[in-house]
Amino acid sequence: MNELEAFLRKIPKAELHVHFTGALRREIFETLNRKYNANEHKAIDRAFDRTGYNNVLTALKTASRLLRKPEDIRDAVYEVQRDAADNSVRYREIFWNPTDHADLADLPYDVAQDALIDGLRRAEQDFGIIGRLIPSIDRSLSPERAFEMVSDVVASPSPFTLGIGIDYLETDGLPESFWKAFKLAHENGLRCTAHAGEDGSHPRSVETCLDLLHCSRIDHGYTVLEDEALTQRCLDEGIVFTVVPSNSHYCEVLEGQDWSVVHPIRHMMDRGLKLTIGSDDPPLHFTDPAWCYVVMVNEFGATLDDVRGFIANSIDGSWAPEAEKQRWRAEWLEEFDTLRNSLNKQDL
Ligand SMILES: [Zn+2]
Repeated sequence: MNELEAFLRKIPKAELHVHFTGALRREIFETLNRKYNANEHKAIDRAFDRTGYNNVLTALKTASRLLRKPEDIRDAVYEVQRDAADNSVRYREIFWNPTDHADLADLPYDVAQDALIDGLRRAEQDFGIIGRLIPSIDRSLSPERAFEMVSDVVASPSPFTLGIGIDYLETDGLPESFWKAFKLAHENGLRCTAHAGEDGSHPRSVETCLDLLHCSRIDHGYTVLEDEALTQRCLDEGIVFTVVPSNSHYCEVLEGQDWSVVHPIRHMMDRGLKLTIGSDDPPLHFTDPAWCYVVMVNEFGATLDDVRGFIANSIDGSWAPEAEKQRWRAEWLEEFDTLRNSLNKQDL
């Protein structure tokens, strides 16, 4: 590991874009597979196949099938947080899909939520990392099912659950279809975010999430650049985008040496949009939170000032209490500056 990589690993971070079942290491899949004699070897091989096309969305379902008992969820999220703490992630808001655990392992919302909270508490105690939850709508399911899911969220409130999101394949469900579920969340004091503008969709999806779904930030959001007025609005309003440098539709369709030059993340950065760096489903994309920062520098040309900005944006965009955010801004950025000053090469 070179000096820059070590630096990017050490700097304190908040991560706002990561999925619980997407963050499980292969060993966790394998341990659960053995525990239940579940015969998921082939699915696990496919999930972690570096040579071919590994279908991440299918892997998320495999993980949910294997997490059969509350203690599996508790122990898995504990491990997921251990990995993040090793990357100096201090605070993390984690997406999870309650409908997957209900449909594939028969675990009701409140049972799964309690197990996650139990694991997050233990991880905070042992590794000092704070974890919070974002129950997320699977957009391939019906809007009625989404409304039902958010009703469950509202019925079992917890200080660990800060808001809701929507994920899975963007082309499977337009954001406007889910207005009612988001309205219910918003009316009950939950914060809102949404995966939008990820799969080459029309930029109006980003606008719809801001105006109709009450979203305070956008996950991915790359197509925003196709609408100049909307881009300017996001700049004016300081909308935070949780971009994922190591995974998106663009990583699959952009080929050749200049992929990172034409990738929208570079142009979002050049336009001055507020970006935070997320690892999405790190082991399934063969990355980790710190390596995503390495990609931002090595591939997208981010400077160390840009990286400092990403850290500040990740605090700004988080749903943590304002007093805590203020403290992190002071402490983390000071820590960042101290680490930066000790670098031999500071001219990035
Ligand atoms: Zn995502």
